[in-house]
Amino acid sequence: MAQPTDIVIPADLLPRDGRFGSGPSKVERAALDALAASGSYYMGTSHRQPTVRSVVAAIRDGLRRLYGLPDAYEVVLGVGGATAFWDAAAFGLIRRRSQHAVFGEFSGKFAAVTTGAPHLDAPEIIESPPGTCPRPETSAEIDLYALTHNETSTGVMMPIKRPAGAAGLVAVDATSAAGAMEVQHGEYDVYYFSLQKAFGSEGGLWIAMCSPAAVDRIDLIAASGPWVPPFLSLKSALENSRKNQTTNTPALATLFLMRHQLDRMNEQGGLRWAADRSRRSSSLIYEWAEASAHAAPFVTEPTTRSTTVATIDLIDSVQADDVEAALRANGIVDTGGYRKLGRNQLRIACFPNVDPDDVAALIGAIDYIVERLD
Ligand SMILES: *Cc1c(COP(=O)(O)O)cnc(C)c1O
Repeated sequence: MAQPTDIVIPADLLPRDGRFGSGPSKVERAALDALAASGSYYMGTSHRQPTVRSVVAAIRDGLRRLYGLPDAYEVVLGVGGATAFWDAAAFGLIRRRSQHAVFGEFSGKFAAVTTGAPHLDAPEIIESPPGTCPRPETSAEIDLYALTHNETSTGVMMPIKRPAGAAGLVAVDATSAAGAMEVQHGEYDVYYFSLQKAFGSEGGLWIAMCSPAAVDRIDLIAASGPWVPPFLSLKSALENSRKNQTTNTPALATLFLMRHQLDRMNEQGGLRWAADRSRRSSSLIYEWAEASAHAAPFVTEPTTRSTTVATIDLIDSVQADDVEAALRANGIVDTGGYRKLGRNQLRIACFPNVDPDDVAALIGAIDYIVERLD
C-alpha cells in the first residue's frame, strides 16, 4: 500500500486551481492581480477619503443589484465578520428573547452567545442532529428568530421562511450562502454574512442587508436599551454605513476583493448565474458519491443538501485523512471535513468561484487516490 503523500496524480487529471476550502475560499486570480495592480493608489490610503469610500459605495450598490434589494432595505457593514455580528446582535437587535435553529457549529455559536448574555432571557433552542435541518416554531415570546441559510460545518442548507405569523424579526446567518443562494426578501429582516466564503473575498468584515423593521429595531434599542460596547453598536454601524464608512478601520483588501467579486457576479448574470454554478458543481459531487462504492452524501435528505458546501462520507476502509493528505501533496487543498464533526468525511466548497470543471477533475483525482490506497 502506498503512503498517501507518495501518490502522484498525473498532471492532466489535476484541476487547474486546487483550492476547495469552505472558508477562506478560493479568491479569483484576476481579483488578486487587480489588487496588486492598484499599486500605490488604493492600499495604504485613508478609509475616510473618497478612494476607499467609493469602494464601499460600490459594494453597497453591487449588493443591491445582485439581490434586487427593495429600496427600503439598507446595506450595513462593520468590522469583525459574522462572529462579531452575533455579539452586536445580542446587544443591538434582540430585545429579550431569541430562538435559534441549531444544526451545527455555526448556528450553535450564535445560540451560545445569547445563552451567555446576562441582559437577555435564556434563548429557545431548537436543535436537530448534524446532517439534518431543524424547523423554527412561531412563539409570541420570541422577538428574533436566528436561522442559518447554510450550516457550513455539516453541509446542510435551510429553507429561509419567516415562521408563520411570527411577530419577531428573522435574522439569517448567510455566511456560506450569500452570493450563491437565492432568497426572498419578505422572508427575512436581516441577512448577514462574512465575505471569505461564497463571495471569495477575505475575512474581517460583516455585511447585513436589513429590512425597515430591522432598522427600526436597531434605532429602538439604541434609544432605549442597555449600554452597548461602542465597537458592537449596530446604530453606529448603520450611521457610518450610510456614509460609506465603518465604525473603525476596515480591511481594505477585503473591500477591494469584494467589489471585484460583485462586479464579476453582476456582469456574469447575477445571483442566478452564481447559484447555478454552485448547483452544477455540487450536483457533480452528490451524483458521484451516490454512485460510488466508497463514498456517500452525508446529508440524507436531498432537498437540504447544500449547493455550496458538499459533505461526503467515506467508507471505513478509506480514511478521509489519507485522501486529504494525498490531495494536498498534489496541490489540492482544504478538502478535509469539519474537525469537530469528527466524521470520516470530505468537505468540498462549491462556491461560484470554483469552476465546475475543476470539481469534475477533483472527483477523478479522489477516485485515482482511492484506487491506490487500497
Ligand atoms: C464561517 C462562518 C461563520 C464565521 O465567520 P467569521 O468571519 O469567521 O466570523 C459564521 N457563520 C457561518 C455559517 C460560517 O460559515
